[in-house]
Amino acid sequence: MAKSRYQAPRGTFDILPADARARAPVERAAAKVFNHAGYEPIVTPAFEDTELFARGVGHSTDIVRKEMFTFEDKSGRSLTLRPEGTAPICRAYVEHGMHKLAQPVKLGYLGPFFRHERPQAGRYRQFHQVGAEVIGTDSPLADAEAIMLLADMLAEVGVEGVELRLGSLGSPETRSAYLDELRAHLRAHEGELPKQVRERIDANPLRAFDADDEGTRVVMADAPKLLDRLDGADAEHFAEVRDLLDVADIAYEIDPTLVRGLDYYTRTIFSFVCERLGAQSEIGGGGRYDGLIEQLGGPPTPAVGWAAGVERTVLALDAEEEAPVLGPAAFIAVDQSGPSRRMVAQGLTREFRRAGFPAEMDLLERSLKGQLKHADRIGAHIVVILEADGGVQLRNMETGEQRPIDLERALDEISRNGN
Ligand code: AMP
Repeated sequence: MAKSRYQAPRGTFDILPADARARAPVERAAAKVFNHAGYEPIVTPAFEDTELFARGVGHSTDIVRKEMFTFEDKSGRSLTLRPEGTAPICRAYVEHGMHKLAQPVKLGYLGPFFRHERPQAGRYRQFHQVGAEVIGTDSPLADAEAIMLLADMLAEVGVEGVELRLGSLGSPETRSAYLDELRAHLRAHEGELPKQVRERIDANPLRAFDADDEGTRVVMADAPKLLDRLDGADAEHFAEVRDLLDVADIAYEIDPTLVRGLDYYTRTIFSFVCERLGAQSEIGGGGRYDGLIEQLGGPPTPAVGWAAGVERTVLALDAEEEAPVLGPAAFIAVDQSGPSRRMVAQGLTREFRRAGFPAEMDLLERSLKGQLKHADRIGAHIVVILEADGGVQLRNMETGEQRPIDLERALDEISRNGN
């Protein structure tokens, strides 16, 4: 392979046609479940004011502290390539007064996101998420619907071996009282914790549950659990979500140590993991974010949502089989390269396309032999050959059979043959 002078930046990748074919089922599955469940499409800009993420995602999160691609525009305003989709959608909800629409507003999206992370399998600096948001309801029914939607999407794509972990963070007050309790526990065991955990006791003590060193693990095994501290309404909400999932036959495991890397979550949080993915085992996840819209200047508006990684979903599929190349239904070939025959060929190709048949023709002005070889290479099902004397032949590329046809009737014949 020729070495290019330029390469895609570290942590980014080209989606070549074969990769695009492998992703198509994920995109189709997302479109289908969204469509069937009434989630309308939304597209927000690739960059936003930095402050939106700093406030929305949270100043103390890794995403905001370390992972944002932030730059100044020509007027000195700080902008950031979006690291996630929920804060932008909430911004759009407030900006466009969507609280006046029929509630809840149900939205689905798919697009690129950017995080300056250490690249590895399943973790990139530009990746794609498909996500859903249900805005304007605090009912546990919405939490359950959101979870079911992601479960159904993964099932529709055919991902196997997926497990659902479920937790609840309670209300901000419960969480804040609990965090004080957790900080006290961590401080009492400071000697057993590594520096990077000690440093985050104040800002983000929950992350200690994620640490993988033995010392922290031992300390965290005895740590108080937020799930045991939920107040009445929060505990009831969580119980209802669990009941709804039980009735829907969605298996889950309660994970009292589940945390997410974004600060806006309240009450339900969930994570779909697939062990086939290795270290980056989460395929998608999300939760409820009842305070975010108000925090961004909107009316108090409870909401719940999730995002799943497109690349991780594809990785989780059995990648043995390559998605097949679907060749065009017809290839229009000419056995003389005179301009008039080529024009006829181009006209016919266009006619086929307009009639709904994928059709191609030679754009390199090859010999007829070269054109037939090319038609075979791109997987054309039939070839219409415009002969030099004005005759027309129809060649079936699978059987090699060839017979004369009427040019006027070429389209009819082909639709009748079901090609
Ligand atoms: P999050 O927005 O952090 O809740 O992540 C939701 C999902 O996006 C994860 O479960 C992953 O599937 C995917 N994801 C997050 N970060 C990355 C990344 N850096 N590279 C690839 N996929 C990612």
